[in-house]
Amino acid sequence: MNFSDELPALKFELWDYVIIHELLHFSVPNHGKLWKSLMRSHLGEYEAHEGELKRIAGNKALQRTR
Ligand SMILES: [Zn+2]
Repeated sequence: MNFSDELPALKFELWDYVIIHELLHFSVPNHGKLWKSLMRSHLGEYEAHEGELKRIAGNKALQRTR
């Protein structure tokens, strides 16, 4: 994984989002109900981080994590 070029200076919460997002794809290949419930159990209200990431990095960087 190499996010450092695309996502500079993120808050810890946002790194958690990116890293857990990616790790969950080892067991869940999509963003379906199971993925969402696992995200929520690890991160709580992760949608807020998702929105913040989009504002900071734009859609391009977020798509790289899929
Ligand atoms: Zn994804």
